[in-house]
Amino acid sequence: MSRLAVVCGGSRGIGRAVSVLLASRGCKVAVVSRNRDAAQATVASLDGADHTAFSCDVSQEQDVQRTFETIHKNQGNISYLVNAAGINRDSLLLRTKAEDMVALLHTNLLGTMLTCKAALRSLLHSPGAAIVNIGSVVGHKGNAGQCVYSASKAGLEGFTRSLAKEVASRDVRVNLLAPGFIRTDMTAGLKEEQLRTIPLGRFGEPEEVAKAVLFLLESPYITGQVLVVDGGLQLAM
Ligand code: NAP
Repeated sequence: MSRLAVVCGGSRGIGRAVSVLLASRGCKVAVVSRNRDAAQATVASLDGADHTAFSCDVSQEQDVQRTFETIHKNQGNISYLVNAAGINRDSLLLRTKAEDMVALLHTNLLGTMLTCKAALRSLLHSPGAAIVNIGSVVGHKGNAGQCVYSASKAGLEGFTRSLAKEVASRDVRVNLLAPGFIRTDMTAGLKEEQLRTIPLGRFGEPEEVAKAVLFLLESPYITGQVLVVDGGLQLAM
């Protein structure tokens, strides 16, 4: 029987590439983003049948609960949850408004906590279930102009390790994938000179991150880990 995967942030970028890869491997994919038309466009491009699109703001608890209840009721137990919904609002701390801090923490950190909580009962009933949260290399190393963004991603590391300990005895695994510079809408403003800081000399592609997400989802003896996918960037930071 095909596995059910929920991909938050599946309408674009890394989440979209994950949705495409999981569908190509026979998963039924529920694509979640705020913009339902964009989620539906991803669904329309997937191999296979029975994929679904949902409009949901991961930072809103009722929205998340309603969405995951619908997914569970209509499609059964969730096997895989991938948390790729995220935003960035880069600015030096002195120029960062409190409302931007709240938006970053609510989307990137609280949003992942809420989706994990909402999916958990379903995951516990699905043998070999797994969660992959998308962090960032800057969550570990820090970056000027990204104080709050990197705090949200560092928070995800602690959350991922703790949840991995909470659910390991029930055979649910939780890992974090930390990308470097990946070519998506989020990094559209990056300058080519930043390539010089990457040992492999190029930005990563969303499809390359998706392969590593699939590896973590399908590796039955890996939990509570951070997998860095950054072309060696962290070596140079
Ligand atoms: P992206 O292309 O901008 O896509 C972001 C996705 O998240 C979209 O599907 C977006 O859809 C969704 N989203 C944003 N806010 C949401 C919310 N409140 N509720 C539900 N969905 C929401 O970004 P990306 O580059 O693929 O990034 C994916 C993840 O990787 C993020 O967590 C990001 O921080 C992380 N990351 C990216 C890079 C990089 O270089 N690209 C590096 C390190 C980490 P809607 O706008 O329709 O909601």
